[in-house]
Amino acid sequence: MQRNQGQFILGVAWPVADLIVEYITLQPGVERAAIAGSIRRGLEIIQDIEIVAASTAPEALVTALTSMQGVEQAEWQDGNKLVLILTNGLVCRIYIVNPEVYIAALVYYTGSAGYVAKLAGQAAKRNLLFTAEGVRAKDGQQVMLAEESDFYTMLKLNYDQPELREDNTKLTPAGEIFTPVVSLQNVQGVVHVHTTYSDGASRLADMAAAAKERGWHYLGIADHSKTASYAGGLSIETVKAQRREIEKLNAENPEFRILAGIESDILPDGSLDYPEEILASFDFVVASVHSAFRQSEADMTKRIIKAMRNSYVTILGHPTGRLLLRRKGYAVNIGEVIAAAAQSGTIIEINSSPYRLDLDWRWCRLAKEQGVLFAINPDAHSVGEFEHMRYGMAAARKAGLSPSQVINTYSLPEVMSLLHRKRP
Ligand SMILES: [Zn+2]
Ligand SMILES: [Zn+2]
Repeated sequence: MQRNQGQFILGVAWPVADLIVEYITLQPGVERAAIAGSIRRGLEIIQDIEIVAASTAPEALVTALTSMQGVEQAEWQDGNKLVLILTNGLVCRIYIVNPEVYIAALVYYTGSAGYVAKLAGQAAKRNLLFTAEGVRAKDGQQVMLAEESDFYTMLKLNYDQPELREDNTKLTPAGEIFTPVVSLQNVQGVVHVHTTYSDGASRLADMAAAAKERGWHYLGIADHSKTASYAGGLSIETVKAQRREIEKLNAENPEFRILAGIESDILPDGSLDYPEEILASFDFVVASVHSAFRQSEADMTKRIIKAMRNSYVTILGHPTGRLLLRRKGYAVNIGEVIAAAAQSGTIIEINSSPYRLDLDWRWCRLAKEQGVLFAINPDAHSVGEFEHMRYGMAAARKAGLSPSQVINTYSLPEVMSLLHRKRP
């Protein structure tokens, strides 16, 4: 379990929260329940799990939760929440509310605190009192809300998806230009996964079958390149052998397409790992830094920008190299890297591994303004790791990316031309 002074990565906390919500909804008297707080907002680091549950039998729910497996300590606090400490150290606050105030409580506990204060201010302008206990008119009458969208309609605001609800988010009046935000339903395919050809645990054919199973139309294989010998990097001979397998599988499955890519190391001097004719033979190239992390910021920035100027480099992989709660990223001037990506037409990866979530969503907002395109990449090393996509998607949604800014939402022919747009 990832533990760091009460901090957990989203990838640990979210699945646990899902299980608790599932358990809650099975209890008698429970009408609705959902994750709130920073998990719902898709933050990469989580302090605690927050859940809102609407129940007509709160005592029974408290009893059931207290005896749930994995609970080390349970305490009823302030007359409205059950605080659980789980055996892995995670703290879980469960707000148990009357069903008629559920929506208001869900908005309230989703936060952030600063964002909720803005909503309360907006409510006050309309003579409504918005608190965790509901929305009340001047005469004390409770306003009934069936869905969160009703809450925003009531305040004459555009709906903000939970991932956008941070302290610095501006509320927008209903009817103002509203760009749609990308979601998992928009995804037509993914690139950047590993197989047993390098350090993956699943076979190429199994990865492709699992991607197809998810309803995707294409999958881009990107095993490690030859310098990454610690990760089973591919020799030129192995690249050719893998290509033959890809071609064979594609011939057998014309309705699904495996793209032949590579995750090429960016060598310390900014050059790539294969001669040009090999690079040219790939459908796409993800270029990533995996070594010489201690270069100066100036050298690292120059190194990455040189790689992006290579016309065969399609995507810049995990641009800062950070490992959440484990390792800071290398020293690099991300502003310059983003500008160079925009200028060279290089796509920037949102690496969806819950340890990476790199490029950080805060930087993605800046990159988006410069017209950079993004690839939400699972970097899956096994079939199970396709699940990473939900974390990368949360980051993309926090950055407010629209479907058109994310290559995964394009059809196969469209994505092929995006992947080749830098080529001579
Ligand atoms: Zn990598
Ligand atoms: Zn990778």
